[in-house]
Amino acid sequence: MIPDTAMTDSTAAPAASPETTFPTLLEHADTAPAATSSARQAQRQAFEANKLKKRLRRLVGQAIGDFSMIGRGDRVMVCLSGGKDSYAMLDVLLSLRDRAPLPFELIAVNLDQKQPGFPADVLPRYLASRGVPFHIVEQDTYSVVKRVIPEGGTMCSLCSRLRRGVLYRVAGELGATRIALGHHRDDILATFFLNLFFGGKLKTMPPKLVSDDGKHVVIRPLAYVRERDLARYAEVMAFPIIPCTLCGSQENLQRKQVAAMLCDWQKRYPGRAESIFNALSNVVTTHLLDRSLQDFAAIRASGMAVPDGDIAFDDDPCIDAGARSVRFAPGD
Ligand code: SF4
Repeated sequence: MIPDTAMTDSTAAPAASPETTFPTLLEHADTAPAATSSARQAQRQAFEANKLKKRLRRLVGQAIGDFSMIGRGDRVMVCLSGGKDSYAMLDVLLSLRDRAPLPFELIAVNLDQKQPGFPADVLPRYLASRGVPFHIVEQDTYSVVKRVIPEGGTMCSLCSRLRRGVLYRVAGELGATRIALGHHRDDILATFFLNLFFGGKLKTMPPKLVSDDGKHVVIRPLAYVRERDLARYAEVMAFPIIPCTLCGSQENLQRKQVAAMLCDWQKRYPGRAESIFNALSNVVTTHLLDRSLQDFAAIRASGMAVPDGDIAFDDDPCIDAGARSVRFAPGD
Protein backbone atom coordinates (compact mmCIF):
# COMPACT_ATOMS: atom_id res chain seq x y z
CA MET A 1 0.00 0.00 0.00
CA ILE A 2 1.38 3.42 -0.91
CA PRO A 3 -0.33 6.05 1.19
CA ASP A 4 0.40 9.48 -0.25
CA THR A 5 1.00 8.78 -3.90
CA ALA A 6 -1.13 7.45 -6.68
CA MET A 7 0.30 4.29 -8.16
CA THR A 8 -0.43 2.54 -11.38
CA ASP A 9 0.20 -1.16 -11.08
CA SER A 10 0.43 -3.50 -14.00
CA THR A 11 1.64 -6.95 -13.24
CA ALA A 12 -0.64 -8.67 -15.70
CA ALA A 13 0.67 -7.11 -18.87
CA PRO A 14 0.92 -9.51 -21.78
CA ALA A 15 4.37 -10.95 -22.34
CA ALA A 16 5.92 -9.94 -25.61
CA SER A 17 9.40 -10.24 -26.97
CA PRO A 18 11.30 -6.98 -27.56
CA GLU A 19 12.17 -7.99 -31.07
CA THR A 20 8.49 -8.37 -31.99
CA THR A 21 7.28 -5.16 -30.39
CA PHE A 22 9.97 -2.61 -31.13
CA PRO A 23 11.31 -1.47 -34.46
CA THR A 24 14.84 -2.74 -34.32
CA LEU A 25 17.19 -2.60 -37.20
CA LEU A 26 17.13 -6.37 -37.12
CA GLU A 27 13.55 -6.15 -38.32
CA HIS A 28 14.45 -3.67 -41.00
CA ALA A 29 16.92 -6.19 -42.32
CA ASP A 30 14.10 -8.70 -42.81
CA THR A 31 12.00 -6.25 -44.78
CA ALA A 32 14.80 -4.54 -46.58
CA PRO A 33 13.91 -3.22 -50.00
CA ALA A 34 14.84 -5.20 -53.04
CA ALA A 35 17.57 -2.82 -54.12
CA THR A 36 20.85 -4.59 -53.42
CA SER A 37 22.68 -1.62 -51.91
CA SER A 38 19.84 -0.88 -49.47
CA ALA A 39 19.70 -4.55 -48.54
CA ARG A 40 23.43 -4.57 -47.88
CA GLN A 41 23.19 -1.41 -45.81
CA ALA A 42 20.32 -2.85 -43.80
CA GLN A 43 22.29 -6.05 -43.24
CA ARG A 44 25.29 -4.09 -42.09
CA GLN A 45 23.17 -2.02 -39.72
CA ALA A 46 21.56 -5.18 -38.37
CA PHE A 47 25.00 -6.68 -37.83
CA GLU A 48 26.22 -3.56 -35.98
CA ALA A 49 23.02 -3.41 -33.89
CA ASN A 50 23.40 -7.04 -32.92
CA LYS A 51 27.06 -6.51 -32.01
CA LEU A 52 26.14 -3.52 -29.85
CA LYS A 53 23.40 -5.47 -28.09
CA LYS A 54 25.83 -8.30 -27.34
CA ARG A 55 28.46 -5.84 -26.07
CA LEU A 56 25.98 -4.21 -23.70
CA ARG A 57 24.82 -7.59 -22.45
CA ARG A 58 28.42 -8.69 -21.88
CA LEU A 59 29.44 -5.50 -20.04
CA VAL A 60 26.34 -5.45 -17.85
CA GLY A 61 26.74 -9.16 -17.07
CA GLN A 62 30.39 -8.59 -16.21
CA ALA A 63 29.61 -5.65 -13.90
CA ILE A 64 26.86 -7.63 -12.18
CA GLY A 65 29.30 -10.50 -11.63
CA ASP A 66 32.30 -8.37 -10.62
CA PHE A 67 30.35 -6.52 -7.93
CA SER A 68 27.92 -9.29 -6.91
CA MET A 69 25.03 -7.00 -7.74
CA ILE A 70 22.24 -9.57 -8.13
CA GLY A 71 21.78 -12.91 -6.45
CA ARG A 72 19.29 -15.76 -6.45
CA GLY A 73 15.75 -14.61 -5.69
CA ASP A 74 16.53 -10.89 -5.71
CA ARG A 75 13.67 -8.55 -6.50
CA VAL A 76 15.26 -5.76 -8.52
CA MET A 77 13.45 -2.44 -8.75
CA VAL A 78 14.57 -0.89 -12.04
CA CYS A 79 14.26 2.90 -11.87
CA LEU A 80 13.04 4.18 -15.19
CA SER A 81 13.14 7.90 -15.93
CA GLY A 82 12.25 7.73 -19.60
CA GLY A 83 15.81 8.65 -20.64
CA LYS A 84 18.04 6.54 -22.90
CA ASP A 85 20.12 5.11 -20.05
CA SER A 86 17.32 3.68 -17.97
CA TYR A 87 15.53 2.26 -21.03
CA ALA A 88 18.73 0.49 -22.05
CA MET A 89 19.30 -0.76 -18.50
CA LEU A 90 15.83 -2.30 -18.35
CA ASP A 91 16.16 -3.81 -21.81
CA VAL A 92 19.51 -5.46 -21.06
CA LEU A 93 18.40 -6.67 -17.62
CA LEU A 94 15.30 -8.26 -19.15
CA SER A 95 17.46 -10.05 -21.62
CA LEU A 96 19.90 -11.22 -18.92
CA ARG A 97 17.07 -12.32 -16.63
CA ASP A 98 15.77 -14.60 -19.37
CA ARG A 99 19.20 -16.22 -19.72
CA ALA A 100 20.46 -16.10 -16.12
CA PRO A 101 21.26 -19.37 -14.34
CA LEU A 102 19.88 -17.86 -11.10
CA PRO A 103 16.27 -16.68 -10.94
CA PHE A 104 15.62 -13.03 -10.10
CA GLU A 105 12.71 -10.65 -10.56
CA LEU A 106 12.50 -7.25 -12.24
CA ILE A 107 9.97 -4.52 -11.47
CA ALA A 108 10.15 -1.26 -13.39
CA VAL A 109 9.29 1.88 -11.43
CA ASN A 110 8.81 5.37 -12.77
CA LEU A 111 8.27 8.44 -10.65
CA ASP A 112 5.98 10.94 -12.34
CA GLN A 113 7.24 14.16 -10.73
CA LYS A 114 4.43 16.21 -12.27
CA GLN A 115 6.62 18.29 -14.49
CA PRO A 116 4.53 20.33 -16.90
CA GLY A 117 4.13 18.50 -20.20
CA PHE A 118 5.23 15.09 -18.86
CA PRO A 119 3.72 12.53 -21.26
CA ALA A 120 2.27 10.21 -18.60
CA ASP A 121 1.03 7.61 -21.09
CA VAL A 122 4.40 6.86 -22.75
CA LEU A 123 6.04 4.66 -20.11
CA PRO A 124 2.97 2.59 -19.15
CA ARG A 125 2.39 1.84 -22.84
CA TYR A 126 6.02 0.86 -23.39
CA LEU A 127 6.22 -1.26 -20.25
CA ALA A 128 2.96 -3.06 -20.98
CA SER A 129 4.25 -3.86 -24.46
CA ARG A 130 7.43 -5.37 -22.93
CA GLY A 131 5.39 -7.51 -20.55
CA VAL A 132 7.34 -6.31 -17.52
CA PRO A 133 5.60 -5.69 -14.16
CA PHE A 134 5.68 -1.98 -13.39
CA HIS A 135 4.55 0.76 -11.04
CA ILE A 136 4.12 4.42 -11.85
CA VAL A 137 4.37 6.55 -8.73
CA GLU A 138 2.83 10.01 -8.93
CA GLN A 139 4.30 12.55 -6.58
CA ASP A 140 4.59 16.27 -7.24
CA THR A 141 8.22 16.91 -6.35
CA TYR A 142 8.33 19.48 -9.18
CA SER A 143 6.25 22.03 -7.21
CA VAL A 144 8.43 21.52 -4.13
CA VAL A 145 11.61 22.18 -6.11
CA LYS A 146 10.09 25.24 -7.82
CA ARG A 147 9.01 26.64 -4.47
CA VAL A 148 12.34 26.11 -2.72
CA ILE A 149 14.90 26.98 -5.42
CA PRO A 150 15.04 30.65 -6.47
CA GLU A 151 14.24 31.48 -10.12
CA GLY A 152 17.18 30.64 -12.41
CA GLY A 153 18.86 28.40 -9.79
CA THR A 154 19.95 24.82 -10.45
CA MET A 155 17.20 22.50 -9.38
CA CYS A 156 18.75 19.12 -10.14
CA SER A 157 20.36 18.43 -6.75
CA LEU A 158 17.19 18.94 -4.76
CA CYS A 159 15.09 17.25 -7.43
CA SER A 160 17.35 14.16 -7.34
CA ARG A 161 17.34 14.09 -3.55
CA LEU A 162 13.54 14.19 -3.40
CA ARG A 163 13.29 11.57 -6.13
CA ARG A 164 15.71 9.34 -4.24
CA GLY A 165 13.64 9.60 -1.07
CA VAL A 166 10.45 8.59 -2.88
CA LEU A 167 12.17 5.71 -4.68
CA TYR A 168 13.63 4.35 -1.44
CA ARG A 169 10.22 4.41 0.16
CA VAL A 170 8.62 2.67 -2.82
CA ALA A 171 11.38 0.05 -2.83
CA GLY A 172 10.45 -0.79 0.77
CA GLU A 173 6.77 -0.99 -0.09
CA LEU A 174 7.45 -3.28 -3.04
CA GLY A 175 9.79 -5.51 -1.08
CA ALA A 176 12.61 -4.82 -3.53
CA THR A 177 15.98 -6.19 -2.46
CA ARG A 178 17.91 -4.14 -5.04
CA ILE A 179 17.39 -0.67 -6.51
CA ALA A 180 18.92 -0.46 -10.00
CA LEU A 181 19.98 2.98 -11.26
CA GLY A 182 20.98 3.78 -14.84
CA HIS A 183 24.29 5.58 -14.23
CA HIS A 184 26.95 4.60 -16.73
CA ARG A 185 30.76 4.70 -16.96
CA ASP A 186 30.85 8.35 -18.02
CA ASP A 187 28.62 9.38 -15.10
CA ILE A 188 31.06 7.59 -12.79
CA LEU A 189 34.02 9.43 -14.34
CA ALA A 190 32.28 12.83 -14.27
CA THR A 191 31.33 12.35 -10.61
CA PHE A 192 34.90 11.39 -9.78
CA PHE A 193 36.19 14.68 -11.24
CA LEU A 194 33.41 16.74 -9.64
CA ASN A 195 34.50 15.40 -6.26
CA LEU A 196 38.18 15.87 -7.10
CA PHE A 197 37.92 19.42 -8.44
CA PHE A 198 35.14 20.88 -6.33
CA GLY A 199 34.76 18.59 -3.32
CA GLY A 200 38.38 17.81 -2.39
CA LYS A 201 37.59 14.09 -2.19
CA LEU A 202 38.60 10.94 -4.02
CA LYS A 203 35.20 9.33 -4.52
CA THR A 204 32.62 8.56 -7.14
CA MET A 205 29.41 6.58 -7.67
CA PRO A 206 30.19 2.98 -6.70
CA PRO A 207 28.56 0.15 -8.65
CA LYS A 208 26.97 -1.16 -5.45
CA LEU A 209 26.31 0.58 -2.15
CA VAL A 210 23.88 0.92 0.72
CA SER A 211 21.26 3.67 0.27
CA ASP A 212 21.39 6.93 2.29
CA ASP A 213 18.74 5.62 4.68
CA GLY A 214 20.71 2.41 5.21
CA LYS A 215 17.76 0.23 4.24
CA HIS A 216 18.44 -0.69 0.63
CA VAL A 217 21.15 -1.95 -1.68
CA VAL A 218 21.59 0.29 -4.71
CA ILE A 219 23.22 -1.14 -7.85
CA ARG A 220 24.49 0.40 -11.10
CA PRO A 221 24.47 -2.35 -13.73
CA LEU A 222 25.65 0.06 -16.48
CA ALA A 223 28.87 0.87 -14.60
CA TYR A 224 31.06 -0.48 -17.43
CA VAL A 225 29.00 0.91 -20.32
CA ARG A 226 30.00 4.01 -22.28
CA GLU A 227 27.39 6.70 -22.77
CA ARG A 228 27.86 6.78 -26.52
CA ASP A 229 26.94 3.09 -26.73
CA LEU A 230 23.76 3.78 -24.80
CA ALA A 231 22.88 6.67 -27.12
CA ARG A 232 23.39 4.43 -30.14
CA TYR A 233 21.39 1.63 -28.57
CA ALA A 234 18.49 3.99 -27.85
CA GLU A 235 18.46 4.92 -31.55
CA VAL A 236 18.60 1.33 -32.69
CA MET A 237 15.82 0.27 -30.33
CA ALA A 238 13.75 3.43 -30.98
CA PHE A 239 13.04 3.83 -27.27
CA PRO A 240 10.26 6.40 -26.69
CA ILE A 241 12.54 8.90 -24.93
CA ILE A 242 11.11 11.45 -22.52
CA PRO A 243 13.50 14.41 -22.16
CA CYS A 244 14.71 15.39 -18.68
CA THR A 245 14.46 19.08 -19.59
CA LEU A 246 10.73 19.51 -19.25
CA CYS A 247 11.35 21.30 -15.97
CA GLY A 248 13.51 23.94 -17.72
CA SER A 249 16.34 23.51 -15.20
CA GLN A 250 19.80 24.86 -16.01
CA GLU A 251 22.56 22.30 -15.89
CA ASN A 252 24.97 22.67 -12.99
CA LEU A 253 27.94 24.80 -14.15
CA GLN A 254 30.56 22.56 -12.53
CA ARG A 255 29.06 19.47 -14.08
CA LYS A 256 29.06 21.25 -17.43
CA GLN A 257 32.77 22.07 -17.09
CA VAL A 258 33.68 18.50 -16.22
CA ALA A 259 31.59 17.12 -19.09
CA ALA A 260 33.33 19.50 -21.54
CA MET A 261 36.75 18.46 -20.19
CA LEU A 262 36.01 14.76 -20.58
CA CYS A 263 34.60 15.31 -24.05
CA ASP A 264 37.75 17.19 -25.06
CA TRP A 265 39.99 14.43 -23.66
CA GLN A 266 37.95 11.85 -25.50
CA LYS A 267 38.88 13.53 -28.77
CA ARG A 268 42.47 14.51 -28.03
CA TYR A 269 43.71 11.63 -25.90
CA PRO A 270 42.09 8.35 -26.89
CA GLY A 271 42.34 5.82 -24.09
CA ARG A 272 42.59 8.36 -21.28
CA ALA A 273 39.04 7.78 -20.03
CA GLU A 274 39.68 4.03 -19.98
CA SER A 275 42.91 4.53 -18.03
CA ILE A 276 41.18 6.70 -15.41
CA PHE A 277 38.31 4.26 -15.15
CA ASN A 278 40.73 1.36 -14.65
CA ALA A 279 42.51 3.38 -11.97
CA LEU A 280 39.27 3.51 -10.00
CA SER A 281 39.45 -0.28 -9.67
CA ASN A 282 43.16 -0.25 -8.88
CA VAL A 283 43.59 1.92 -5.80
CA VAL A 284 46.89 1.79 -3.90
CA THR A 285 45.85 3.12 -0.52
CA THR A 286 49.42 3.02 0.85
CA HIS A 287 50.42 5.59 -1.75
CA LEU A 288 47.92 8.23 -0.79
CA LEU A 289 47.78 10.62 2.14
CA ASP A 290 44.66 9.48 3.94
CA ARG A 291 45.58 8.81 7.57
CA SER A 292 42.31 6.98 8.11
CA LEU A 293 43.39 4.35 5.58
CA GLN A 294 46.86 3.79 6.93
CA ASP A 295 48.48 4.05 10.31
CA PHE A 296 51.54 6.06 9.30
CA ALA A 297 52.87 6.07 12.88
CA ALA A 298 53.11 2.28 12.75
CA ILE A 299 55.24 2.17 9.61
CA ARG A 300 58.53 0.31 10.24
CA ALA A 301 61.20 -1.02 7.92
CA SER A 302 60.59 -4.75 7.53
CA GLY A 303 63.87 -5.63 5.87
CA MET A 304 61.90 -7.24 3.07
CA ALA A 305 61.83 -5.76 -0.46
CA VAL A 306 58.43 -4.31 -1.42
CA PRO A 307 57.81 -4.48 -5.20
CA ASP A 308 56.20 -1.02 -5.53
CA GLY A 309 57.63 0.34 -2.32
CA ASP A 310 58.59 3.93 -3.10
CA ILE A 311 57.66 4.07 -6.75
CA ALA A 312 55.08 6.81 -7.07
CA PHE A 313 54.93 7.11 -10.84
CA ASP A 314 57.69 5.48 -12.86
CA ASP A 315 55.64 4.27 -15.76
CA ASP A 316 58.35 5.34 -18.16
CA PRO A 317 59.21 3.14 -21.13
CA CYS A 318 62.88 4.00 -20.60
CA ILE A 319 62.80 2.31 -17.21
CA ASP A 320 62.33 -1.28 -18.16
CA ALA A 321 62.25 -4.26 -15.93
CA GLY A 322 65.98 -4.82 -16.39
CA ALA A 323 66.90 -1.28 -15.32
CA ARG A 324 64.71 -1.59 -12.26
CA SER A 325 66.42 -4.74 -11.17
CA VAL A 326 69.87 -3.11 -11.10
CA ARG A 327 71.39 -3.29 -7.62
CA PHE A 328 74.38 -1.26 -6.55
CA ALA A 329 77.05 -2.74 -4.35
CA PRO A 330 78.16 -0.70 -1.31
CA GLY A 331 80.63 1.97 -2.44
CA ASP A 332 79.34 2.15 -6.06
S1 SF4 B 1 16.64 18.30 -15.27
FE1 SF4 B 1 14.77 18.76 -14.09
S2 SF4 B 1 13.79 16.75 -13.76
FE2 SF4 B 1 15.88 16.35 -14.39
S3 SF4 B 1 16.97 16.18 -12.44
FE3 SF4 B 1 17.16 18.32 -13.08
S4 SF4 B 1 15.50 19.36 -12.07
FE4 SF4 B 1 15.04 17.18 -11.97
